[in-house]
Amino acid sequence: MPIERTEHRGADELQRYYEVYETIGSGGFAKVKLGRHILTGEKVAIKIMNKKDLGDDLPRVKVEIEAMKNLSHQHICRLYQVIETSTQIFMVLEYCPGGELFDYIIAKDRLSEEETRVFFRQIVSAMAYVHSQGYAHRDLKPENLLIDGDHNLKLIDFGLCAKPKGGLGYELMTCCGSPAYAAPELIQGKAYIGSEADVWSMGVLLFALLCGHLPFDDDNCMILYRKITRGTYDNPKWLSPGSILLLNQMLQVDPKRRLTVRQLLDHPWVMKDYNSPVEWYSRQPLGYMDEDCITEMAVNMKRSRQSTTALVKEWRYDHITATYLLLLSKKQRGKPVRLRPEPAVCEDSCSPLHQGLQTRKALHFSEDEDALIVDSLDICSDYIDDCPWVSVPQHTPQRVRGQPDGIIKKDTRLVSPSVEKGHPSSPTPERVRKATPRYHRERNREQASENKENNDVQDRDVDIFALPPPRTPVSSKRNARLNKNVLTTPNQNANINSPKPSVATPKGGDGSSKEHKKRAAENKDPANVEIIAFSPERRSRSLDLAVTGDSGKKKRGGKMFGSLERGLDKVITMLTPNKRRALRDGPRKIKAQYNVTLTSQTNPDQVLNQILSILPEKNIDFTQKGYTLKCQTWGDFGKVTMAFELEVCLLQRPEVVGVRRQRLKGDAWVYKHLVEDILSTSSI
Ligand code: ADP
Repeated sequence: MPIERTEHRGADELQRYYEVYETIGSGGFAKVKLGRHILTGEKVAIKIMNKKDLGDDLPRVKVEIEAMKNLSHQHICRLYQVIETSTQIFMVLEYCPGGELFDYIIAKDRLSEEETRVFFRQIVSAMAYVHSQGYAHRDLKPENLLIDGDHNLKLIDFGLCAKPKGGLGYELMTCCGSPAYAAPELIQGKAYIGSEADVWSMGVLLFALLCGHLPFDDDNCMILYRKITRGTYDNPKWLSPGSILLLNQMLQVDPKRRLTVRQLLDHPWVMKDYNSPVEWYSRQPLGYMDEDCITEMAVNMKRSRQSTTALVKEWRYDHITATYLLLLSKKQRGKPVRLRPEPAVCEDSCSPLHQGLQTRKALHFSEDEDALIVDSLDICSDYIDDCPWVSVPQHTPQRVRGQPDGIIKKDTRLVSPSVEKGHPSSPTPERVRKATPRYHRERNREQASENKENNDVQDRDVDIFALPPPRTPVSSKRNARLNKNVLTTPNQNANINSPKPSVATPKGGDGSSKEHKKRAAENKDPANVEIIAFSPERRSRSLDLAVTGDSGKKKRGGKMFGSLERGLDKVITMLTPNKRRALRDGPRKIKAQYNVTLTSQTNPDQVLNQILSILPEKNIDFTQKGYTLKCQTWGDFGKVTMAFELEVCLLQRPEVVGVRRQRLKGDAWVYKHLVEDILSTSSI
């Protein structure tokens, strides 16, 4: 098939079934965006990978996809659909709005033994299941555990997992994973047993949960390796004797003396306050057929139940699998087993509804750098700029508002009546076929009291098309209940070996900045690129360890804003009308969330200015849109090593200024130190 056609089919597939929103994370290989499955109204995460960028790592993605197809567990992120084109791979995944466990730990500084136990039991449960299926994960760390809407953990990132042909007892040779979490036998290049290496990583993870820092840590990888192979670490004074013992049993240098996951299931520390072993079997076994979901799909697709069952049983990880699994997920959460009455696979792609859906797509497959320059709310223009194979009408907000069946009337597509909450029922075929105006009216009314879950996406939709003042959308309302708000305070930092940001001028580093700036200026609204302070690059520690093994030789390069005063001056005089408006409208008012650092100040402009003055000092490039700063640091060869957002916002209770932070890319611990450094130096 010609490449172009494959491209279109892949894009069509995504467009037809999903709405795609802003980037919610990125890793070494992928950019992850928030999306919504149109038929079920369920939110999803869409992991987007560019095959060209993957290069030799393409097999890693294949491994991840195969593993995720074979794993179904309450503490493992579920794969719903895979779309592959000649240039890209899209993985549609269960959406975890609570963010990474890593961010949760650093927001709370460290967790109590009780809260650690809750999470650790879930990790043990997931790992016992993974091992029971013959897999070793090999990259366990808090960045790879996400928190779902119910505050439960979900394991992600199976790209490094292994399934030895002869079973898990067979030895592996590939040294992989993150150095700080890697078992001694692994970094020594010895043959190792995957499950044993996983238990070591679980020990490091347990330590990080209880202590808020790593047991083995150093900027210099040789020193780090030495610490790991010796297996000696300091137990902070707050650890209970039980915790010290368990950590010691897991962080045994000799893998044969290490606890096994089986032993962890009913370990006294794990059982404390529970009096029951960890349940590790899957509550969602692979291949389970749910009658209600099949009935609803059969009605929607106008097929018999039998042929629908046969279709689902193919488990092709296409839209059929996705629809079934998402319906099942709705049912398991006590939501109605309902699909939109209109078929999503719209034969008549010119129907007003379908057109409406198409114009709302916000695909964005740009380079990481672009993503930083473009405001995440400028989704329509992103889409047009960056998605070459989709032609999107250049609609205006007015036109959108004027379309009776277009974007704004999106509610008609959502069918999760809250009245039925707790009583999942499947509509009879008759009920659905009789999609009378009254039925629609009822549905619309039900929509008004729609499950709150979709509200933040809905808000965003309106934002996108009504073009309100810029605001950053990432946070989930659910996060609001997590009430510990502070990033580690400067005093607490004193305990942590916090590396000072170091600077180096890469070969061509300056050039990459120029290139970056030029591209920004060419592609984007000038208003978005004016406030860019270019700094020399800063290498992330993970790169040092993983690639070059070199932690030295860091030189300082030129800066656009040489001094604090000049920097501030420039920022102020360069404000465009757009930005002036954004600033005039003031910062967002948000509820306290765990990724918001409280300040003692009440003037948001002062806080913003303090941060603005610090960023150039710390050699951090940034773009500003209103009160949101998109920050990044650069590595060798002009690669972005770290990307994160800082947003000055107003909190309601207590009425102070807060700084919302979100890591988008880069080593989690380096990010932690860097943001702590920025916020403490800003003295806010
Ligand atoms: P990579 O394989 O490139 O390392 P990851 O799978 O680790 O990419 O995803 C990168 C980041 O995207 C994660 O660290 C997380 O912040 C975010 N992310 C990934 N999957 C999800 C998801 N299912 N729900 C919410 N956020 C996600």
